[in-house]
Amino acid sequence: MNSPKCPNCQQSDIRKLDGQRAVCRSCSKVKRCVFQFCWACQREWPPNVSTTNSCMLPNCALRAALLSVKLISEPQSSVNGCPYFRACPGCHALLTHNGEGCPNIICPHCNEEFCFRCLRPECYDTESYDDEDYDDDDDDDPEPCVILDNTEILRHLEL
Ligand SMILES: [Zn+2]
Ligand SMILES: [Zn+2]
Ligand SMILES: [Zn+2]
Ligand SMILES: [Zn+2]
Repeated sequence: MNSPKCPNCQQSDIRKLDGQRAVCRSCSKVKRCVFQFCWACQREWPPNVSTTNSCMLPNCALRAALLSVKLISEPQSSVNGCPYFRACPGCHALLTHNGEGCPNIICPHCNEEFCFRCLRPECYDTESYDDEDYDDDDDDDPEPCVILDNTEILRHLEL
């Protein structure tokens, strides 16, 4: 399991309570009241939720999987270093890459094709992936394929 940071102050002076609840000590001090958040999806705990097993916020499990720090570590794979899970940019389904072939995958739910590394629908860098001296100064150089962080994606998909 990942060790989350406080969604408010981004620090890790936190204490896990029962169920999925956690408390940020620094925020509680600043706010002069207990600042609670969901350990799994890393969002502020809704004040009207009495159960402690789940924050009841939408996409809690999806966010928890995407925020997990687990990375693919297969040096031979084109997706080495990527987060283990990705959300499909089309339908938000949780997807993994089998580690074979090019970084592009096709979502089995909505047939959207995208690059597992940079999540663009068409990744132009796949050809030059193994090219060691990829350094031509052509004016319409494709943007390099950079491995995106899932926090970017969550913000982008507004999950
Ligand atoms: Zn905090
Ligand atoms: Zn949650
Ligand atoms: Zn999809
Ligand atoms: Zn890419």
